[in-house]
Amino acid sequence: MKLQDTLNQNNLPTKSDVVIIGGGIIGCSIAMFLSTKGVNSITLIEMNSLSSGATHKSGAMIREFYQTDFLIEMAKESKKLFEKTEIKINKNGRLYLFSKENKEIVEQNVKLNQDHGVNLEILSTEQIEKLIPNINLSNVEIGFLEPNAGYVDSVDSTYYFANEALNNGVGIFTHTKVESIEVKNDKIKSVTTDKGKIETSIVVNAAGAWANYINKSTNENLPIFALRVQQALVKSNSYFDPFKYCLMDYVNGTYMRPDDGNSYIIGEELGFEQSDIVSPDFYNQSADENIILNHKLKIENRLPRFKDSILKGGHAALYDMTPDANPILGKSTKIKGLFYAVGFSGHGFKLSPIIGKLLSELIVENIKDPLLDKFNLTRFTIKNLIKPKFPFKNMLN
Ligand SMILES: Cc1cc2nc3c(=O)[nH]c(=O)nc-3n(C[C@H](O)[C@H](O)[C@H](O)COP(=O)(O)OP(=O)(O)OC[C@H]3O[C@@H](n4cnc5c(N)ncnc54)[C@H](O)[C@@H]3O)c2cc1C
Repeated sequence: MKLQDTLNQNNLPTKSDVVIIGGGIIGCSIAMFLSTKGVNSITLIEMNSLSSGATHKSGAMIREFYQTDFLIEMAKESKKLFEKTEIKINKNGRLYLFSKENKEIVEQNVKLNQDHGVNLEILSTEQIEKLIPNINLSNVEIGFLEPNAGYVDSVDSTYYFANEALNNGVGIFTHTKVESIEVKNDKIKSVTTDKGKIETSIVVNAAGAWANYINKSTNENLPIFALRVQQALVKSNSYFDPFKYCLMDYVNGTYMRPDDGNSYIIGEELGFEQSDIVSPDFYNQSADENIILNHKLKIENRLPRFKDSILKGGHAALYDMTPDANPILGKSTKIKGLFYAVGFSGHGFKLSPIIGKLLSELIVENIKDPLLDKFNLTRFTIKNLIKPKFPFKNMLN
């Protein structure tokens, strides 16, 4: 059966062993991994189209570099799982730039990652210039290259996971909204959608920036807020020798990655001074002209070859932020049968396969992987937040 033919149906089941709320990359990955574990019936509910939330506008960049041991391990495992799929990974390499104040911290972080086997190469300004002739390195003191990093197509990847899940018998219902989760004696009882009620004992909340809205009916508060971030889309005129890397410019606070053809996506990487906390249902999805122009100017300044590039437009999207900019994963602390995979804070795409794998093992086999356990919800109440081992100065780590 083709996925497109099965979506948006009205034959919602009245019972299901597991209900997954959210058809972004995370919900679809969980559905795919869960579908290989012998669960009788799995239902995924998405209120819009698959991949219509944060996933749709994701940079979908995949890397292993992180600043804590367990996130490095998760990113490594996740990349391996991506490589086992048929999803095309553009391994174009990722270049990171830093100013003088972060030189030693960069060296510590690179060593930390290298100790975990991540392939990273420290670059002096001379070496960066050799790699990218005519780059303007004002205020740059040091950089490093992650040659095996790259990016994928976020929508294709979501549909790949969804298709695999569907072929293994998962029921996928788009344009169906979960209105509430019913709980009795601290156990999951059912979910109510705008197309009917499904009795179930297991619910996975993978609702991204909407996660706390749907959780209201369970009385467990999730510390998640929706941050509006903006991306500019530019088309370069230099058809010969196009700029090929994903660029993380931690000096001027931008990132850029190649897109289709000769186009590039430029976003904001630092501090989010220009970002607002918004309601995920009522936010301006268009870009602010001055902000995306500013994104483009910063790239032009760093890479003068972009001076004659065209600003094609831009858009706004949501990061589902938590107080320590890391996700909430695993079991609810209050309700039996409720699981979370939410709050990815702008870096969840690359982690989606490992999240799907670990969550499905927890749900079906009750395997509490130590990696997963780091992201439990209680860390916010006992003030045991996740922190980078070597935090960079003057930036969101
Ligand atoms: C601009 C941008 C760039 C990014 N770049 C990267 C990157 O380069 N690398 C990286 O690793 N990460 C990146 N991220 C982060 C990554 O894209 C997200 O962490 C990831 O896509 C989150 O997926 P999700 O499935 O949790 O959320 P979403 O994709 O938002 O999916 C949640 C889904 O739940 C549905 N939903 C909500 N409420 C209900 C309900 N009541 N009933 C039914 N359905 C409901 C929504 O419609 C939505 O489709 C980026 C994010 C953004 C916004």
